[in-house]
This record gives sequence, C-alpha cells and structure tokens, in this order.
Amino acid sequence: MINLSGKVAVVTGGSRGIGAEAAIMLAEAGCDVAITYVSARTKAIQIRNRIEQMGRESLIIKANVSSERDVKLALRAVIRQFGRIDILVNNAGIWKYGSIGSMSARQWDETLDINLKSVFLFCNEAVRHMKRRGGKIVNIASTAGQRGEAFHSHYAASKAGIIAFTKSIASEVAPYGINVNCVAPGWVETDMSKGVLSSKKALRNIEQSIPRGRVATPREIAGPILFLASELSDNLVGTTVSANGGGVMVS
Ligand code: NAP
Repeated sequence: MINLSGKVAVVTGGSRGIGAEAAIMLAEAGCDVAITYVSARTKAIQIRNRIEQMGRESLIIKANVSSERDVKLALRAVIRQFGRIDILVNNAGIWKYGSIGSMSARQWDETLDINLKSVFLFCNEAVRHMKRRGGKIVNIASTAGQRGEAFHSHYAASKAGIIAFTKSIASEVAPYGINVNCVAPGWVETDMSKGVLSSKKALRNIEQSIPRGRVATPREIAGPILFLASELSDNLVGTTVSANGGGVMVS
C-alpha cells in the first residue's frame, strides 16, 4: 500500500541501527536513498549495496551532522545526484552518561550539537528544496525527551528540544505541503543500547517495565518512520509517535 517510487529520501546516521533499517525500509517502499555516516564507512557501504540490490539508487555521504558546512555539502551532494529531496529522516544521535554536578559544558554541547543542532541544520537546508513540491520530515526523538532521563539530562534535553522544534516548524511549513513529525522510540536493540542490554539483569528489568514485554528491533522503529514518510500521514502535523511498547504512555 505504501509506494514511494520516484521519491528521494535522506537518512542521517544511516550506517547502523535504526537509521540503517529505516534506509532499507524506505528503499523497499521504492525510494532512492542517501545516507550519512560519520565513521562507519564499511557499514555505510554495506547498506548502500543492499539498497542498490533492490534496484534503487543510493549515495553514502560522510558528514558530521553538527557541522553546518558538512550538512550543506551533504544536501548539495544529494541534489546534485538526485535533483530533489522528498523525505528527510533526522536520526543520527549519541547517548552518553552525564551526571548533573559533574558534567562539563563540553559534554553538554557535544550532545546538544549532535542530537539537536543537527536537526535544525538539516531542516533549515531541506525545507528550501521541499517548499516547491512538499515533503516529509521525520525527526527521531526518544522517551527521554518525553519524560526526562536521570544521568542523561543533556540527552533528554536534546530530545525534548527536537519535539518542541518539530511542533514549531511543522506549523510553519504545513502550508507548503511539508509534514514534520517525530518518532520517539523506547529501548531498541542497537549499538547505542547494547552496553546496557548486554547485562541479563538490566535486560530483565527493562523488559518487565514494558507492557509488550520486550525491547524493540530497529525494524519496529523503521515501520513508524516509513508511515510518517508516506502519504498515509498527510494529516499528521507536529505530532510524536511513541514507539516504545507501552513503556511510557505519553503523547
Ligand atoms: P546507533 O546504533 O548508535 O547509530 C548511531 C548513528 O548515528 C550511526 O549511523 C552514526 O554514524 C551516527 N552518528 C553518530 N554521531 C554522529 C555525528 N556526529 N555525525 C553524523 N552521524 C553521527 O544509534 P541508534 O540506536 O540506531 O539510534 C538512532 C536514533 O534513535 C538516535 O537519535 C537515538 O537517540 C534514537 N534512539 C535510540 C534508542 C535506542 O534504544 N537505541 C532509543 C531512543 C531513541 P557512524 O555509524 O558513522 O558512527
């Protein structure tokens, strides 16, 4: 039912985890897909190969998402190769420990720059291209941005910032046929969470806190991303889809 043939998608942090799975699913739905990575070139190449094996075009771009210059160059490369941007998934992010009272300003800035400033930078560039024929922007937030997260206040603030930023610009660009929405995952099996999830005891506690009884796969987050990237979500403006198995029931 979802057919995105002829559309061009950009997924930041598409080399691993949720971003990689979103890139694959968008290609399965018919998109040509550009992904960004910052260090995992071999993994980015593997994702590009999988997309090309489906008969779609793909482009991998090395870009630090917190650098204005890198973001501009990245989207310029997409326009040069594909001539358009229809879908933008702002997924790249980091999750680091930081205790209030001992966190440095540098730690704070790193997380805010990679997780939040990047979303502003990509949206700021992409809407210029999307204003002509509409588009879909999906920003990846987190349950941390909805309820806060102890010892990760910088991360939680960055994700809450994404949710508020999404609501704000969604109203600005809806008249141009651009939908901006968020997916807020709970626990997902990726490199980001494996330090915690590899402890059997921690995993058991986490699973017990989720009504569905288990941690999500990246593909279970890619599904809501695909939905928000499709015309099925045309009436969703500035909303947050909570993809957390019922672990946190906020909207
Ligand atoms: P992951 O497996 O750690 O992958 C992170 C991705 O972001 C990689 O592609 C990485 O590129 C890229 N990245 C990191 N720093 C970057 C930078 N400075 N510039 C450009 N790219 C950068 O993470 P994930 O679990 O898939 O998370 C994806 C998104 O979901 C994040 O926004 C995260 O906050 C959110 N999320 C995850 C969970 C979870 O439990 N996993 C829960 C809630 C929300 P390289 O591969 O090149 O390093």
